[in-house]
Amino acid sequence: MFREVTATQVLLAAASPRIQFAEFTADEEKENGADWLWWWVDQDGTCYGLLAQAKILKSRGRHWSIDFTYRTQGDDQTQISKLIRAANRFDVPAAYVLYCGDTQYRATLECDRAHDGVLCRERDHVGVSTVPALVAETAVGLYGRNSGVSAFHDALPVEDLAGPDGQDEPIVPLARGLAEDLSRFLRQPQRGSRRVAKELLRPVQRIRHGQFAEAAVMERAVPITGTLFADIPNDLGHFSVPYLAHMLRGLRHEVPDYVHDVLDGRTPPAWVTDHLGGIVVIPDADAPATAGDRTPHGSVGQLFPGPPEESRPPGGRRPGQAA
Ligand SMILES: [Zn+2]
Repeated sequence: MFREVTATQVLLAAASPRIQFAEFTADEEKENGADWLWWWVDQDGTCYGLLAQAKILKSRGRHWSIDFTYRTQGDDQTQISKLIRAANRFDVPAAYVLYCGDTQYRATLECDRAHDGVLCRERDHVGVSTVPALVAETAVGLYGRNSGVSAFHDALPVEDLAGPDGQDEPIVPLARGLAEDLSRFLRQPQRGSRRVAKELLRPVQRIRHGQFAEAAVMERAVPITGTLFADIPNDLGHFSVPYLAHMLRGLRHEVPDYVHDVLDGRTPPAWVTDHLGGIVVIPDADAPATAGDRTPHGSVGQLFPGPPEESRPPGGRRPGQAA
């Protein structure tokens, strides 16, 4: 776990001051030490939050994996379901932040899913990327020990989330009779925190379209105070929780008090700090991207050219590198 914690610290130190963060006591015994809250905050206060656990994409020879199913001894719950449940405390969706190295590190990664031009391993900026926990959970169910490659396929570069280069294609949910505000959000292009929510919903919705399960039409999720959309269909599909409500509950009208605490340099209350490694805030998430947004190191994806030592092959060479 501490490799992941270190990777997060390196990332945040380099991405600062574009982003702000507060790290809480690094305690080896702390159960959720690798879980961080990430909040994208727009200029008008609209924001999107995510509980993210750090994971490293590792290789053993040609086999690539992410240890999503890691279990603590004597614990019968998977780490994924624990993460999803931990996110309930903050009423946000659960996700993984994946540290995936550079294209040289990923040289032997073969993904057998369809690609639109660019191979998984050669995509820009995916060195630090994120994937919803619901997508990882589905991947574990479908692909078992190859779930890491599948999740990586669906992962999105963290630095591009609020304003990716690609077009904002409409999302078409299975449930009909959507409230007008939610329908418009899914149909029309978005920026900033709304775009982050939409880009993370997209791979979940894609999975939902592949499932043979009736869409819940009438049932509505219990509204959460302060969320942008009060009226969300409780469609479950084959996910472990109603996926629209889970993914969209992080989208809020107002910045939570503990996020203000981080922005103002105060320590958030114990109910927050006791359960987290820290909080990351990306202010002005809806501001147009400028060259100044880049870290002094360039793309954050370039911060981790290689994997942590333990996942390198014996002899310290990277896959594909000549002896
Ligand atoms: Zn792929």
